[in-house]
Parts: sequence; C-alpha cells; structure tokens
Amino acid sequence: MFDGFSDGNCPQCLLDDKKIPLVVNQMDFWECPVCRLQCVTDRVSVLSIIRERGNGLLKDILATDWIKQFILSRTDLNNITKSDGSKFSEERELREYLDNH
Ligand SMILES: [Zn+2]
Repeated sequence: MFDGFSDGNCPQCLLDDKKIPLVVNQMDFWECPVCRLQCVTDRVSVLSIIRERGNGLLKDILATDWIKQFILSRTDLNNITKSDGSKFSEERELREYLDNH
C-alpha cells in the first residue's frame, strides 16, 4: 500500500507489488535494475525520483541496506540531483509523475 515513504525498494516496481531494491549506479544515483528508474538522496531521509532513466551500469550497493522510511519526493526541474521539496500524498500522484518521466 502506498504511504509516501521508501525503504529502498523501487517506488515504481512496488506499485506492481514487486520488491526490487534500488542499486547504486555509475553516476552514484540509486537505480532500479528492472525499470531503470533513478533516485537520489540529497537531504536526510528524502528519496527523490529523478526525471530521467538510468543506463543499467550498476555497482554492488543496495539501497535497502541504507534507506529506511525516507520521504518520496520529486526532483527539481532544473537540477536532477536535488529534491524540489514536494511529497507524494497519493498513489495517483506518484503514478502520474512516473508516467511522464
Ligand atoms: Zn523499478
């Protein structure tokens, strides 16, 4: 069930009931090995979803070892490495954002 938080599993795959841990990629962002969604943690306890997909070049570090109850956020339109300070209050908002990025 959607609660607006992340424990390091891919937020998009979780919408399909699949628990896929995010993994550090070549750019030092978090990336899903299945759907290539990228996320970044630029603030304490905030995981922001980047508006561009990754390229699958992954390292061996799982987000589930580091991320517990982080607030899911969007990234800034002008800076993909920063949260825009927003939260997803409903699953519908998250689905809309993922459909467009
Ligand atoms: Zn995914």
